[in-house]
Amino acid sequence: MRNKCTKYESLFTFADAETFQKHLEVCEDCREEHARMAAVSELIKEVRPSYLNKKRNIAKLKIACAVFAMCISATALGVVNLNSNISDTIKYGTTLTAEDLGLPVDAYGFVMVE
Ligand SMILES: [Zn+2]
Repeated sequence: MRNKCTKYESLFTFADAETFQKHLEVCEDCREEHARMAAVSELIKEVRPSYLNKKRNIAKLKIACAVFAMCISATALGVVNLNSNISDTIKYGTTLTAEDLGLPVDAYGFVMVE
């Protein structure tokens, strides 16, 4: 039994197209190898678009998640910043009255204006 030709890879990589083609004509092993490579190459071409599509969809999903998270945090921060009762509760554990803020108040807790 003769040894299988091992020149395919080196010829494919280093030889010019003409040398490579000539060797393919005389060497059955390399012809088979070349056919197999062509089949794999076809398969990759076939699969590539759906693979890229999948990647693109994952990227879109990530962007959507980021935007969603930003909206949620912006809303939460906006509510806390605009509603002083909530931020007072977070900072001091209770809502602050006008008296707590050091303003002059009457018996009902209303700010006195002179
Ligand atoms: Zn060969």
